Amino acid sequence: MNEIFYSTAAILFILSIHGLNSPKNAQKSNFIGIIGMIIALLTILAFIPINRLPIIMTSLLLGGTIGIISGRKVLMTALPQMVAVFNGLGGLAAVLLSLGEIILNPYHHLISTISVIIGSLTFSGSMVAFLKLQGCLKITSFRSQQIINFIFTIIMIALAIIFYLSQKNEFFWLLTIISFIVGILLVLPIGGADMPIIISILNAASGWAAAGIGFMLEQPLLIITGAIIGASGIMLAQVMTKAMNASLIEILFFTHNKKTNNTDSDKKEITHIGSPKDAAFIMENAENMIIIPGYGMAAAHAQYSLKEMTTILEKKYHVQVRFAIHPVAGRMPGHMNVLLAEADIPYDQIFEFEDINRDFGTADVVYIIGANDITNPKAKDDKSSPIYGMPVFDVSSAKTVFFVKRSLNTGYAGIDNPLFYADNTIMLFGDAKKITESIVKELAE
Ligand code: NDP
Repeated sequence: MNEIFYSTAAILFILSIHGLNSPKNAQKSNFIGIIGMIIALLTILAFIPINRLPIIMTSLLLGGTIGIISGRKVLMTALPQMVAVFNGLGGLAAVLLSLGEIILNPYHHLISTISVIIGSLTFSGSMVAFLKLQGCLKITSFRSQQIINFIFTIIMIALAIIFYLSQKNEFFWLLTIISFIVGILLVLPIGGADMPIIISILNAASGWAAAGIGFMLEQPLLIITGAIIGASGIMLAQVMTKAMNASLIEILFFTHNKKTNNTDSDKKEITHIGSPKDAAFIMENAENMIIIPGYGMAAAHAQYSLKEMTTILEKKYHVQVRFAIHPVAGRMPGHMNVLLAEADIPYDQIFEFEDINRDFGTADVVYIIGANDITNPKAKDDKSSPIYGMPVFDVSSAKTVFFVKRSLNTGYAGIDNPLFYADNTIMLFGDAKKITESIVKELAE
């Protein structure tokens, strides 16, 4: 009987994921996923032995309350950190369940050995990712890192084989500790443009860890959902790696060569500082304009004023306005798309990197709002830059480029942007929302 409910829930999860393909269906698909989850939870509660109910209900209440509070309180800009913590907790759950299985069962399955490795790597790696995203930990590489990583990985694999073959519990602890260390070592040197990819990989790993738990507990639903998360995380990582002209092996094992290089443009002076009035004047006389949103737009919650600016430019001044979205803009995959959708900016006005990058040469105005790394030409010219190889928008060929930001501060990758000093760049210093609101005011007059 419970198989029917589990299968229904699984089908709803698959339909929900499929529907998330398009922003138009996103809300409906989320709802389908919620129904699937309610069916799954009720089925589990209905079929578990009654004496286990108190502990399960307590855990559900505790976890649910923490989830609701953190979900409500978390700022949109801090979502990636929250995702990193949740990924890590998934990994930790896999380790604890493997521990339970190992204590209770005299025979340790291969799957619990693998779950220990994936779970530990995911937990420690996600915690490092969390600290990095929170800004508490900068890119940290040290001498002979590659060799040390290699040695620890070999020790981890050897321990896993020894643990599985010997079935001795003391190796479990060693394997857990070494896997924790490998997780830290792998994520420690990663930064800049590679960060979103590692988050996707950790997300996938937490999915596979959940699938492992599913096998241990003989829970088909957990296997299915874990596999969905695992497979989609890997696919997302692959899509992003392709978009960034990199490979997973390169990101995981060769990032330590990239260092922050801030030497050359530090000494330059910016040529133009503008005001919202100047910006409004240039914009209303333009024929076409491209807006590039970045992390600062999210931090300032400027999406609503952007929508107002776009509407007035189109309706009153007949300017063609388009949005250009970089695959790693902001701090999580799809960050900008979510925010623009929130402000009801039409989907047909939003273009992915490869569909718009060639059009900058014919753009009269480019309005870069709170974005930095995704426009930085050092990604093309400077081999020592942490974003070297990442495709960036070719904005320099546009007639006028506005940069809206509060200062000359760097972005996530910690490198200066030579575009700030270019002849066709006008810096609009200030909070992204306030500047855009002032431009709207000028345009409306
Ligand atoms: P960046 O981090 O490069 O730049 C953001 C800029 O916004 C900063 O230079 C900052 O300058 C400005 N800013 C911050 N707050 C405000 C504000 N209130 N008003 C106006 N400006 C503001 O962002 P990008 O989107 O260009 O690039 C994303 C970076 O994040 C890439 O390096 C990417 O690899 C990385 N990353 C992306 C993830 C993803 O999944 N998308 C995940 C993890 C990392 P100032 O302080 O002067 O205002």
